[in-house]
Amino acid sequence: MNIMNEIFEKIQAYDTIIIHRHQNPDPDAIGSQVGLRDLLRAHFPQKRVLATGYDEPTLTWLAEMDEVKDEDYAEALVIVCDTANTPRIDDKRYTNGDFLIKIDHHPNDDAYGDLLWVDTESSSTSELIALFAKELDLELPVSAARLLYAGIVGDTGRFLYPATSTRTFEIAAYLRSIPFDFTALARQMDTINLKTAKLQGYVYDHLEIDEHGAARVTLTQELLKKFDLRDSETAAIVGAPGRIDTVSVWAIFVEQADGHFRVRMRSKRKVINEIAKRHNGGGHPLASGANSYSLEENDQIYKELQEVARTNEG
Ligand code: AMP
Repeated sequence: MNIMNEIFEKIQAYDTIIIHRHQNPDPDAIGSQVGLRDLLRAHFPQKRVLATGYDEPTLTWLAEMDEVKDEDYAEALVIVCDTANTPRIDDKRYTNGDFLIKIDHHPNDDAYGDLLWVDTESSSTSELIALFAKELDLELPVSAARLLYAGIVGDTGRFLYPATSTRTFEIAAYLRSIPFDFTALARQMDTINLKTAKLQGYVYDHLEIDEHGAARVTLTQELLKKFDLRDSETAAIVGAPGRIDTVSVWAIFVEQADGHFRVRMRSKRKVINEIAKRHNGGGHPLASGANSYSLEENDQIYKELQEVARTNEG
């Protein structure tokens, strides 16, 4: 029996299913989580299927979470979508259920759960959920198609990153055949507010780029206050340095309220997640996140990025 059938058997066996995803959610986290919820609700109306986590204000237009009570976990199946490691799971009650399933596309460094479906070749977890529906011949409701399409667009940078495969396009074509409001979604995914556009201007103005294409910029709390932006709103500009021809790897150091830095790292070709792992983080080979606890550590991370940019040039 393949893994999708095993997961389906578990879903059939439980009356309550609670779906989690990672903290600091992005469209793929929410898309896969709520897309799966809506798929299961459509096919099992008698079951309680809930999505938990905090409502990220910049993404409530995509979907909102359910209210999940502690007692809902008794005898529940818990599924965690798009989350590589347990510290990053939003809502720590994920261990309170009866059985735990992990569905993810990040490197499986933390193999948690009773049943795992991890496909690092997949562009996104949303692609996996759509594949699950397709393989099991479960028709996707319109709301789920919209969410899963959003997740794929989010995690592929609108079909830009190398993880965009033939299968990604096949799944995207399948989702597009379901009549959600494609125009509205596509436009919304490409929309930023004026404050964020101005921050993007700041990033281009202040980006430091070395001769091998390693780039960095620091966004202090003071600056975020000046632009009246929250950390989560910086997500929209993380890809911006990559549009510059001479940039090959880059890091955006975002100072947090407690003084430490969340480091958002990206690369066009060279593997950077080993750097992230050395600095309290992880992620994909070309898109990772780390945490830095001093300006010296910021410099050290940039030095390691420069090293990657300099060696195995290409
Ligand atoms: P971000 O810059 O937050 O969008 O993160 C990019 C990628 O790195 C995401 O796919 C995350 O899964 C991963 N990531 C970010 N922060 C961490 C962390 N602290 N630990 C593990 N993975 C992370």
